[in-house]
Amino acid sequence: MSADHFDTVIVGGAVIGSAVAYFLSENPDYTGTVLVVEPDPTYALSSTTLSCASIRHQFSNPVNVELSLFGSNFLANFHDLVEVGGNSPDLCFRDTGYLFLASESGWATLEANHQVQSACGADITLMDRDQLGRRFPYLAVGDLSGGSIGANGEGTFDAFALMWGLRQRARYSGVVYSTDRVTGLQVEGDRVTAVHLESGRTVNCSHVVNAAGPRSAVIADMAGVSLPVEARNRSVFIFDAAEPAERDLPMIVDPSGVYVRSEPPYFLAGAPPTDDVAVDADDLTVVHEEFEDLIWPVLAERIPSFDRLRVTHSWAGHYAYNTLDQNAVVGPAHPVENLILANGFSGHGLQQAPGVGRAVAELLTYGEYTSIDLGQLGYARIAAGEPFPESAII
Ligand SMILES: Cc1cc2nc3c(=O)[nH]c(=O)nc-3n(C[C@H](O)[C@H](O)[C@H](O)COP(=O)(O)OP(=O)(O)OC[C@H]3O[C@@H](n4cnc5c(N)ncnc54)[C@H](O)[C@@H]3O)c2cc1C
Repeated sequence: MSADHFDTVIVGGAVIGSAVAYFLSENPDYTGTVLVVEPDPTYALSSTTLSCASIRHQFSNPVNVELSLFGSNFLANFHDLVEVGGNSPDLCFRDTGYLFLASESGWATLEANHQVQSACGADITLMDRDQLGRRFPYLAVGDLSGGSIGANGEGTFDAFALMWGLRQRARYSGVVYSTDRVTGLQVEGDRVTAVHLESGRTVNCSHVVNAAGPRSAVIADMAGVSLPVEARNRSVFIFDAAEPAERDLPMIVDPSGVYVRSEPPYFLAGAPPTDDVAVDADDLTVVHEEFEDLIWPVLAERIPSFDRLRVTHSWAGHYAYNTLDQNAVVGPAHPVENLILANGFSGHGLQQAPGVGRAVAELLTYGEYTSIDLGQLGYARIAAGEPFPESAII
C-alpha cells in the first residue's frame, strides 16, 4: 500500500466538489495541492446530472439569495471563467424566470420573501392576481392571491456543462482527479490525517472536503461526525401536450409544490412526494404513480390546456436532504474541524455550487469567509439542533 500526500482531498467530484476544486485552483493565495476522489467519471447517477438544472433568486434567507445571485453572475461569465484553450462547454442558459404562485395562505410569505430578495438586489416582480392573470393568460388564477417572477438571471441550463467546465478548468490548473472511492478516514485526536481509498491507496492530507452528495453522511460518519443528511427520491417527468396554450413556460411553482417548466420541445414537471422518506442511495426507481396521482391533476387545473398530455421520459434523482431544515451545511465539522462539509443542499445545490465552492476555498485559504459569510449555514446549528429554516423550498 503506497502513502502519498495532498494538502486538500475532496471527496466527490460532481458540481460541489468540482466547484471547490475550481476556486482553490483559481486562487493565487492558495498554494496547496488538491486531489478530487470520484468513483464515477461519467457522473451518471450523481444528483448533479439528474437534477432539473435551474437557478432562482427567490429564497427567504438573504444568504441563499446572495449565493444564487453569485451563481447567476458566474453563469453569465461562464465561458471566460472556465475556458481552456478558448473552449468551454455550452451552458445552454435560458433566461425563463421562476414563477412562484401564492394562494391566500401563502401570500404574506411571498410578500415577505420579496422584500428580502429586493433588499439583496434581486430583480423580482411581485404581481397580484389581476396582474398575474393578464401576464400569464394560460394560467387559472381564480384561487390565487398572486405570484412573483425573476426579471433576469433566473432560468435553466445544462447542469452537466456547469460541472464539466469547473472540472476541466480545475484539472487544467493542476487539480488531480482520481477514479477511486473513499472507504475510510483516518482520525487522530480531532483531526483527519489521511484518506483511505478503495484501490488500497492511502493519502495523507491537511484538509478533507466532504462533497459526497446523498452519501455525505457516510463520509462524515467515517470521522465520527453525525450529519442529518439522507437520500430522498425525486422523480422527474418529461411530457408532451396535445394543444398547449403556451410552449414557453417559466419554471412555475404551484402552491401545492408541483412545478412545471418548458423543456423544449417538451415540458418538465415534478413534485415533492407525498411519502417523502429516506431511500437507499443506490435506489433510483422512478415513482410513476406520482405523475398520475399528484402532478397531472394539479397541472390540468392550473393550466387547462394540459388536460391532454403524454409522458415521454422520466428519471429519478436524489436530494441530499438535510432533515433538520433542508438548508445546506457548509463549513468545518465539529469536533473534527479540518473536515469541511459542503452537504445537504436538498433541491438547490446546483445553483449554490459557485458560491459554496468559492466560500469553501476561502475557508481553506484564509481560515475565514471573505466574500459571502456562510456562518448561518455552519455545523453549529446541527450540533445545537437549531434549524435555520428556508421557506422557499421546492
Ligand atoms: C430531481 C432533482 C432536481 C433538482 N433540481 C435542482 C435545480 O433545479 N437547481 C438546483 O440548484 N439544484 C437542484 N437539485 C439539487 C442539486 O442537483 C444538488 O444539490 C447538487 O447537484 C449537489 O451536488 P453534489 O456535488 O453535492 O452531489 P452529487 O452530484 O450527488 O455528487 C456527489 C458525488 O460524490 C461521489 N461520491 C459518493 N460517495 C463517494 C465516496 N465514498 N468517495 C468518493 N466520491 C463519492 C458520487 O459519485 C457523486 O459523483 C436537484 C436535485 C434533484 C435530485
